[in-house]
Amino acid sequence: MIAPDLDTAVSRLRDLIEEAQVIVPFTGAGISTECGIPDFRSPGGLWTKNRPIQFEDFLASREMRDESWRRRFAMEESFAVARPGRGHRALASLYGAGKIPGLVTQNIDNLHQVSGFDAADVVELHGNTTYASCLDCGERYELTWVREKFEAGGGRAPDCGCGGYIKTATVSFGQAMPAEAMQRAEDLTRTCDLFLAIGSSLVVWPAAGFPLMAKRNGAALVIVNREPTEFDEVADLVVHNDIGDVLGPFIAH
Ligand SMILES: [Zn+2]
Repeated sequence: MIAPDLDTAVSRLRDLIEEAQVIVPFTGAGISTECGIPDFRSPGGLWTKNRPIQFEDFLASREMRDESWRRRFAMEESFAVARPGRGHRALASLYGAGKIPGLVTQNIDNLHQVSGFDAADVVELHGNTTYASCLDCGERYELTWVREKFEAGGGRAPDCGCGGYIKTATVSFGQAMPAEAMQRAEDLTRTCDLFLAIGSSLVVWPAAGFPLMAKRNGAALVIVNREPTEFDEVADLVVHNDIGDVLGPFIAH
């Protein structure tokens, strides 16, 4: 059913959450827009103005690596001040209550961890942009360190001591999906009896696969998203209201 209004949405969602033993949320950009994180992929979003740098170009060209870091630092104003929104805090409350064993996200903003999730319980399908790592040896680097080197070097991105390239810990276009994260996302999806798809258009692979996987496995499916998705017809509850408004009542005080 598509919730006809906010009160119905909240009350139906409350019933489903109370009935559920194991809840697995799957989150996309929509949960972070109230935190000031732009939805890069949306029409008019950053990536429609600035064509994303493909992974093979990052590897092939020093200029592309420098440009990629220049763009990342330009976005830091949004990322550095972003704090968890009502959606993040509601999910953290359910996590704290023991209902959520882990969460799958397409977001790279680290806000689920900041809201109270243990990093080990957040499966990041597209990685994390709040730190960097060496593509060869995996050494972790903090952005402040990269930025200091970048600026001291006149806009040149630093390399790792091993000679490898340092990149934000995100999954770029053209870069392979992390196999371990995919496996963990599948495992979580199969264990839940309530799957909450929140703020994702569910179009981009692999996101599109999980709601049906949960449904086929007998879980109830809830979709909270501004726009309709192609899974609305099979969902047990569809909510088109604002995510913060819908999840706000589930924040534990
Ligand atoms: Zn290295």
